[in-house]
Amino acid sequence: MQDAQQPNDLSAPSPLERRTLLRGAAVGAALAGSGLAFGARAQDAAAAPKLHTLADLPYAVDALEPVIGKRIMELHHGKHHAAYVKGLNTALEKYPMLAAQDVETVLRNLERVPEDVRTAVRNHGGGHANHTMFWQIMAPKAGGAPTGELADALTSTFGDFARFQEAFNKAGAGQFGSGWVWLTLAQGGKLAVESTANQDTPLSLGREVIMGNDVWEHAYYLTYENRRADYLTAWWKVVNWPAVTARYAAAKARMKG
Ligand code: MN
Repeated sequence: MQDAQQPNDLSAPSPLERRTLLRGAAVGAALAGSGLAFGARAQDAAAAPKLHTLADLPYAVDALEPVIGKRIMELHHGKHHAAYVKGLNTALEKYPMLAAQDVETVLRNLERVPEDVRTAVRNHGGGHANHTMFWQIMAPKAGGAPTGELADALTSTFGDFARFQEAFNKAGAGQFGSGWVWLTLAQGGKLAVESTANQDTPLSLGREVIMGNDVWEHAYYLTYENRRADYLTAWWKVVNWPAVTARYAAAKARMKG
């Protein structure tokens, strides 16, 4: 984590980075380009690089039954998400300054990640960030519809809540192969439904993630087999609207800031 600087202010070198940059003959080369601090490799920056970790689920593995079965949850969180965390840490082994950044900050600045690890960060970092969001926006005894500002924004964007759900389900069903379906917020405050392939995140496209559903087969196949549309329909029963609404408020605040 950064101490004194804004989390997304990657252009301002931290004291540690300044020390690294000022040392040695490569200073001139390192100063070329705005990604200098972000991409600079700290040879001796940290004895023990910060590692990303897999947080516990905020509920029991069977808490979202029958919408998301216990075995799916055990594998999805305990194996798939864990593998993304491991892959991200491996990719960032030789970039301790990058490893110290919040994963969402790294993904927002993906084009500044050193090329040799950019694809690994895109896949594994995306996987880590996407799943962290995913667990948080679901809950047992949830579902229903949002209220307040988010509900108003969905209505003004999509016509009504049901039409938003329809657009979201359609985009999720229409994502060819593995990927995610999202509700995003763009600069200017526009909400949109979109989908991405693999673990790509709208954060890397300059948008805020309000919510997303995982349409990889690992998310539903054990229960729904090939019926992704049935999974998408059932999933609304476990959406944690207070959490989504909080994300919307935070995203709006971040855009204003
Ligand atoms: Mn997944």
